[in-house]
Amino acid sequence: MDLSYSDEDLAFRDEVRNFIKDKFPAEIRAAVQRSSYVPKEHMVKWQKILHARGWIAPNWPVEYGGTGWTPMQKHIYAEEYQAADCPKISSFGITMVGPVIYTYGNDEQKKQHLPSILNSDIFWCQGYSEPGAGSDLASLQTRAIRDGDDYVVNGQKIWTSQAHRADWIFCLVRTDIEVKKQEGITFLLIDMKTEGVTVKPIISMDGRHYLNEVFFDDVRVPLTNRIADENMGWTYAKYLLGHERAGIAQVAKHKRTIQRVREIAIQERADGLPLMEDPSFKARLTNVEVSLRALEITNLRMQANISAGMSPGDGASTLKISGTQLEQELNEILVQALGYYGLPYPADQFRPDANEPPIGPQHATGLMADRLLRRAASIYGGSNEIQKNIIAKRILGL
Ligand SMILES: Cc1cc2nc3c(=O)[nH]c(=O)nc-3n(C[C@H](O)[C@H](O)[C@H](O)COP(=O)(O)OP(=O)(O)OC[C@H]3O[C@@H](n4cnc5c(N)ncnc54)[C@H](O)[C@@H]3O)c2cc1C
Repeated sequence: MDLSYSDEDLAFRDEVRNFIKDKFPAEIRAAVQRSSYVPKEHMVKWQKILHARGWIAPNWPVEYGGTGWTPMQKHIYAEEYQAADCPKISSFGITMVGPVIYTYGNDEQKKQHLPSILNSDIFWCQGYSEPGAGSDLASLQTRAIRDGDDYVVNGQKIWTSQAHRADWIFCLVRTDIEVKKQEGITFLLIDMKTEGVTVKPIISMDGRHYLNEVFFDDVRVPLTNRIADENMGWTYAKYLLGHERAGIAQVAKHKRTIQRVREIAIQERADGLPLMEDPSFKARLTNVEVSLRALEITNLRMQANISAGMSPGDGASTLKISGTQLEQELNEILVQALGYYGLPYPADQFRPDANEPPIGPQHATGLMADRLLRRAASIYGGSNEIQKNIIAKRILGL
């Protein structure tokens, strides 16, 4: 694969750079720089700006609102996006359920849901995990029983990120208990405002609220909200997970973090010298850079496959493992670089209206919180141990 930029690529890079310079609101950039967790109103505002430019869903087919970019253009876009500290796009609609709807949904479902995902009027969340079904997802127990033109859904989901901010949830439910567990699962789209849906918060160890439990008590869901065939949900669920895992690699974001580590390590001192001149610190950072380069090439290969209309497939598991390991290593290096100032953790500073001066240097704000939050990166999207099982079984044939 040729990784050098052509003249067209360079022109495209300038176009992206200029667009972000002109259109990315300064207050959203400031919020991102305080914390990787930005308020919903900021996300909606920025996502609508991207949508107006036609750039909200680079991986979607052009007929549904994608950009038709080459893998290299997507790569350039991601680099520029991260370099400017733009916020992560809410992935549940664009990266996860959107591709399921345009691949397996019917025309009505496409008409109803794809525009509102693209223009960020509707936010989604993911109802896969349950108290007894995480790694062993196919053991899920949330039951959906047909009653006339509806399913009646009863059960519980857990670790549902952003459920409190979501308008709809895509859910795996059990519709047949007589067959092999993977064969009795159905994929439903549920409006969170439906009677009988209750969301309860779970506060994570960084002190913030993005996780939830979601309870379903006799929730009536029209049959028309079912994706494709009853009891075939496992197929659609796996397709979605491939997209989710491929998106977790976040190469461009890690590059930006490395740049940030360098900026901080030039300012921070160890034994009277800039930390960047400390041999063991430099060696640790260089190791990460080498691994990131390998991840970047693998990611580009996968992006080329996705652009050619292929599913990310089981190879996404390798990206998920490497990407999340690098992310955690980088977060640890950042906190290490801060020394004592890595420790204070005033949760109030993440509020958009926060005006308290930071404890220690400005660059220390939010880094410990992100380190705590990203401990979960090797768990969500299917734990890294499970990804190793997938690689062993489906790629290596062991
Ligand atoms: C921050 C966060 C956000 C999340 N967001 C969502 C969301 O929005 N929607 C959603 O549906 N879910 C979400 N999840 C749930 C996530 O997908 C599950 O936590 C994950 O799949 C692991 O399941 P579990 O927590 O039940 O752990 P378990 O399955 O109980 O696993 C516990 C440990 O055992 C290991 N293990 C289990 N089975 C095996 C095996 N066969 N071989 C080797 N090791 C094994 C696991 O790797 C793990 O280390 C989120 C989780 C977190 C932490």
